[in-house]
Amino acid sequence: CGIIGYIGSNESSSVLVSGLKNLEYRGYDSAGVALVNGDVDVHKQEGTIDGLTVPSDPETTHGIGHTRWSTHGEPTDENAHPHTDCSGDVAVVHNGIISNYQELKAELSGHIFESDTDTEVIPHLLEEELARGADLRAAVTRVLDRLEGSFAIAATHADHEGIVVARHDSPLVIGHGDEGMYLGSDVTAFVEYTRQVSYLEDGDIAHLSADGIEIFNDGERVEREIQTVDWDA
Ligand code: GLU
Repeated sequence: CGIIGYIGSNESSSVLVSGLKNLEYRGYDSAGVALVNGDVDVHKQEGTIDGLTVPSDPETTHGIGHTRWSTHGEPTDENAHPHTDCSGDVAVVHNGIISNYQELKAELSGHIFESDTDTEVIPHLLEEELARGADLRAAVTRVLDRLEGSFAIAATHADHEGIVVARHDSPLVIGHGDEGMYLGSDVTAFVEYTRQVSYLEDGDIAHLSADGIEIFNDGERVEREIQTVDWDA
């Protein structure tokens, strides 16, 4: 339902939790975050954001968060996002539906699934591509070729820099701040931090790092205009 992401010099967990609260208005049944600090620490549960305990950790360089409105799988702690791969190094949040997840799951023999969601195939597919030597952006690019449905996703990895995001029929907006880069399913997620935004287009795959953003579409580097949001949030 709602996505937030942050990479920068601020304390990440507080940016992510305030982003989740800003996204509450969309409605949700579960919430969670993944904090990257050499490892990937996932905190997630069914229920309200106030019930979610997210420790502040100055070692955290970036992270992603999600408010879930379940489509596949009951609202439970296990089905809440972020979802991870078998190693626990990959974390993914996802808005929308992966309509061919059952076929993909059947192809992922040997992978142990912990949820009933359509989403969980994504970290496991990424794990396979990363094991073949792809970096995180290449892995996301290859996995996207196999996904059907409508989705916006954000992925992180313990050992790969930054956040890789992609959109297909579900909105994603990037915030360009003085203290880092933000990601949201809509501007309200991070508008108290920056009003400089760029909207991703369908098929865009973007790599957010502490230095900025690189956006690709169909393998080509593209630029998306930076606009100033002038409404009161
Ligand atoms: N289909 C996913 C799920 O049920 C994502 C739902 C959403 O957009 O929140 O977990």
